[in-house]
Order: sequence, then C-alpha cells, then structure tokens
Amino acid sequence: MVWPDSPAEFSRLLATLRWAAEHSPYYQRTFASADVHVDDIRDYEAFRQRVPILRKGELVANQRLHPPFGEFLTVPRDRFGSLHTSPGPIFLPRLPEENQGIETLRQAIHTMGIRPGEVVHVTLSYHIMPGGLRLHRAFEAAGCLVINGGTGSSRLQVELARAWQATVYAGTPSFLAHLLDTARSMNLDPRRDLFYRVGFSTAEKLTPQLRHELESALGIELFDHCGEAQIGPLAGECRVHEGMHLHARDLFCEFLDPAAHQPAEPGQVGELVATQLGRRALPLIRYAPGDAFEILPGACPCGHPAPRVRFVGQVGAIRKIKGVLVHPQQVHEALRQFPEVRRFEIVIDQAPGERYERVRLRLGTASPEAASARLAAAIATAVQSAVLLKMEIEFVHEGEIPEEAGLPPYVTTIRDLRPGKSVSAQRE
Ligand SMILES: [Zn+2]
Repeated sequence: MVWPDSPAEFSRLLATLRWAAEHSPYYQRTFASADVHVDDIRDYEAFRQRVPILRKGELVANQRLHPPFGEFLTVPRDRFGSLHTSPGPIFLPRLPEENQGIETLRQAIHTMGIRPGEVVHVTLSYHIMPGGLRLHRAFEAAGCLVINGGTGSSRLQVELARAWQATVYAGTPSFLAHLLDTARSMNLDPRRDLFYRVGFSTAEKLTPQLRHELESALGIELFDHCGEAQIGPLAGECRVHEGMHLHARDLFCEFLDPAAHQPAEPGQVGELVATQLGRRALPLIRYAPGDAFEILPGACPCGHPAPRVRFVGQVGAIRKIKGVLVHPQQVHEALRQFPEVRRFEIVIDQAPGERYERVRLRLGTASPEAASARLAAAIATAVQSAVLLKMEIEFVHEGEIPEEAGLPPYVTTIRDLRPGKSVSAQRE
C-alpha cells in the first residue's frame, strides 16, 4: 500500500526526487549508480523498482564518514532555519520553510477535539531530542497554553498539572501511569484533583490494557499517535479509536513486505518506507527506519479516507510463516489475556519428507500438566485471529523457555528450524 495515492501527490514526489538529484551529492551518486533518471519515472512501480531504499544504518554510517551531515545536504549551512538531533545521533538541519511537522501535529490535535485556550501538559523530553519542543510548538500553534513539563520530577509535575488545571496530557502512556501512581501516593483523587480530559499518547506503544487502566482511573480519552524521530509525525487516531489514520501532508508512505519489498495489502504487516515531500535541507528519500505496521482493512466509521495502521514493532523480528508475515509482538498481545502463560516462543520446523512446515507455539507455564485442552483451544483461536495463522499449542515448564524470548525486541522469539533457515530471526 502507498499513501497518499493521488496523481498530484505523485507529481510532488517526482519534484522532490528532482530537487534531491540536483542538489544533494549523496542522491546524485546513488541515483547515478542505480541508473535512476527522474524524468523516466512514470508511475509508482517504476519508482519502487528503481529508487534505492535508504536504511537508517546507512544514514548514520554516511554521517560518520562525512561529519556531521553526511553527503546529504542540498543547501549551504547559512540557509538552515533550525537544527534537529535525533537518536543515533543523527544530525538533521531544516530549512526555514520546513514546518518540522508542526502543521501536521496541529491537525492531529484538532482531530482529538482539543480547543484553543486549553492547558496542555507536555511531558516528552525537551532535552537534546526534538520531541518535547516540537509537540510544545504544535500545541501553541493550535492556540493552547502549554506547560513545559518534560520528564522526571513527577511530584512537581502533578502539582503543576493540578495548579494550572491542565485538561490535556501529552506524552508517553507509561509516564501518565507514573503520574497517576504519584498522585495517589500524594493522597490525591485522580478524577477529582486532576483535570485531564484528553491524552495525546505518543513515543511508546499504547497497549489496550494500559489504555483501559488510564481511561478508567483518570476519566480521560486517550488518542494514540505515532511519529518517527527522523521523518516526524506519521499517524494518529480519530475518535473511533480503531487504528491510526496516516497523515497526508509531508510524507509519501510505502508499506512493503520486508522480504520481497512488494507493497503489503490491507490486513497484512508491512515495513514503513517514507519519503519526505518538498524541498528539504537534508532530504530523506525512501527512508526505512525499521518499523513494521499492520495495515487495517476496510473504511473507518469516521468517514476519513486516510488508511489506518497499527504499530507492530521492529521489522527485524518479522518472519514469513506459511506465506503470512508474523511479528512476535502480535502474538505477545494476543497472549496477554491468558495470565497462565508466563513465557512463549514460536518454533517452525519441517520434518524430512513432510510437505508442510509445522508451527508450534510453545507456552511456558508454572504447571503445564494442569493446562486444559479448552485453554489450548482458546489460545489457538486468539492467536489465529491476531496473526491469521493457526499454530499448534504446546505447554511446557516456563524454565524451558528463555525469559527474553517473548520480550521486545523479540530477536530470539521465532526459532526457525527449517532447512536452510537461520535459527532465529535476526535484526538487519
Ligand atoms: Zn477514523
């Protein structure tokens, strides 16, 4: 799937390529060696097949080799409007006319029903990385009053949120949970003494369990939002809260099968490959930060046409099993409703002479002999609806499965014993 998919946006994409090819030594060189001629690219297929993917590791390596910006710049330093540093560190100067994703964020804020004049408590870090400051500026652009909370100092943060009567929380869901615990430890009633009504949840996965806990304890409506450090805001929830709509301003997004690099379809998991549209001081073209998303099928009841995605995890842990791309995070989510299961791993093998590969979900419990056939069937159904693949369920003593197997970044979760395959999924 690609988004946006209109001819006008495709022309904008080609104009972006042309600008990079004319001004950036890096793209001049890589386009020449890949035989990319922008004027010969007539459609998405030609774009996909010709223009090389830029992996995050290549960006970092090029900047180390040619410090600090690599060979990517399209303008001299005196044309920079702002400086961003993202984890790596990766150095990302911006032109004055690049809006740093603030306009996109302002629209996401509007979609959440946040009104001008509301007091917003921003708790992303303001320290070195751009997240806190960018969100701060976006809320100010939306007409809000912003508390520059940052991270840490949770008692003081609770006091500030209470004194200013902040109605909007913006930050990670885990820090909101921490503020909730802190408020309780201060003998405050979270619903009466705090005034949050909307939460902008970002920079971390919002699990259904945490959402439920926070919403019921605080009387808040949480909106999941995601961005990526280098490319900026990517997608955010509408009030239906079923997946995040892709933003359609600054990015051309592709979601590709990580193995075949063919576009993934709705219902499947795909790797994000994004191109920043427009003129950039440091253009990122077909940039792959290594993130995998599930593309949700069907239209959203809210009526917004933008496709919806759900963040799955790092792409390196994905495996193709019986033709289906499986990320261990999806299985992990499905298993959360079964507290008996302490650990898990997935084993794929194919016995000699067998035509079909076998997929076993090995579940570590305290007493495998007590696990019932009914429990096995319930787990098999939950997992099948999450990953569209039926797995054999096998209960074992929890000690038989390494604790880290079923935890992020999930590099050892899938043990692939098929002939010619490596033992576990490795990150690229
Ligand atoms: Zn919607």
